Amino acid sequence: MNHLKIIIIGAGIGGLTTGLALKRAGYTVEIYEKTSEIRPAGAGISIWSNGVKVLNSLGLGDEIAKIGGQMDKIEYRSHTNELYNQINLHPMTQTVGQRPYPVSRTELQSLLLNAFKNTETVKLNAQCIGVEQDSQGVTAYFANGYQTRGDLLIAADGIHSQLRDYVVGHLVELRYADYVNWNGLIEINPDLGDKNTWVIYVGESKRASMMPIGNNRFYYFFGCPMERGTIVEPEHRQRELKSIFAQWPSPVQYLIENLKPQESNRLDIHDLDPLKTIVKGRVALLGDAAHASTPTLGQGGCQAMEDAEILSRFLLTTNLGVEYALKRYEAERKERTSTLVLKARKRADIIYGKDPHLTQQWYQQLQQETEQDVTQALSKTILGGPFH
Ligand code: FAD
Repeated sequence: MNHLKIIIIGAGIGGLTTGLALKRAGYTVEIYEKTSEIRPAGAGISIWSNGVKVLNSLGLGDEIAKIGGQMDKIEYRSHTNELYNQINLHPMTQTVGQRPYPVSRTELQSLLLNAFKNTETVKLNAQCIGVEQDSQGVTAYFANGYQTRGDLLIAADGIHSQLRDYVVGHLVELRYADYVNWNGLIEINPDLGDKNTWVIYVGESKRASMMPIGNNRFYYFFGCPMERGTIVEPEHRQRELKSIFAQWPSPVQYLIENLKPQESNRLDIHDLDPLKTIVKGRVALLGDAAHASTPTLGQGGCQAMEDAEILSRFLLTTNLGVEYALKRYEAERKERTSTLVLKARKRADIIYGKDPHLTQQWYQQLQQETEQDVTQALSKTILGGPFH
């Protein structure tokens, strides 16, 4: 199938990576994004080796390395600053064949966008409000009255996807994961921690963490169980964090005192029960639209990248038609992504104290975990992707 015109809805990590993979495969691609400016939600993101490998295959390996942090170690500490364990990531990198790269989301988004030689590929101010398909193609309709037709359509429109219900055939509700996440970026400083270490403080069913990204910055995040729907304006967030993390170690206090509240994010975390179907005829869901996850494995964006690779691979290597290729994409991706969504959910429940007894057990377990245990667990997730 050489001459396909492919419509992508959403210019997030999933939509842009898919657009690049499909262009590389030689297809005509149009990406429609509802916002007037591509502004990623959230401050940082860790692209684990499986995601980096997809970027490598798109010729973006040097670029991601340039903006990526040098994360050499993971360190777990208690909320009283007891060192639980310290994991050297070098053996994992050797096993999987690629470093992970935590990055700034804005820089990742620019990297992906700039990789389109023709900037006309991404069309802004284009909110898709519906699709129709027949045996020959798909038509997408937009809020501004515009419409376009293609051979297939990829709905990469994120966790709040407007096209998901159409594909699945019924109303799908998100599931609140019962905790709030705060995140942002801060310049690296010895008072915060070692510049090459991802440190995670855990205790009282909460966590506080800093991960090195490129350009001498930490991507920080906090998590705490909370009712759904709480709102705290940026100017009050330091006070809120100070009270939630009172008595936590000095790097956490330093972080709270020095973060830029106006540039911080605070959000309720949701995920999606695994969907029975992510494809309807010539329309496929991709990324968070298909399998939104809690961020406790740091795999949501990486899975969107894997989706992109598999989708383009199946389109390129069959002559049995678009619908056949999309069904194969669905069959290949459903199990992998469902497993990770449920694993991340379970991990979130343990971290954030759904069953306090299990959380206590986990704190114990962290102290006994060896480098080999952690390397094996991370490598298993990474090697389950399209590039082993
Ligand atoms: P999005 O990035 O949400 O992009 C969707 C795009 O579609 C948006 O630009 C939106 O404006 C656009 N859009 C929506 N509706 C329409 C419409 N109707 N018409 C046109 N355009 C539309 N993943 C990792 O891999 N590693 C991590 O470390 C990590 N950390 C995370 C931390 C947090 C706190 C959270 C919440 C998530 C994290 N994730 C992480 C998950 C990751 O952010 C998502 O999986 C990823 O952004 C999904 O990409 P996407 O392209 O599917 O959706």
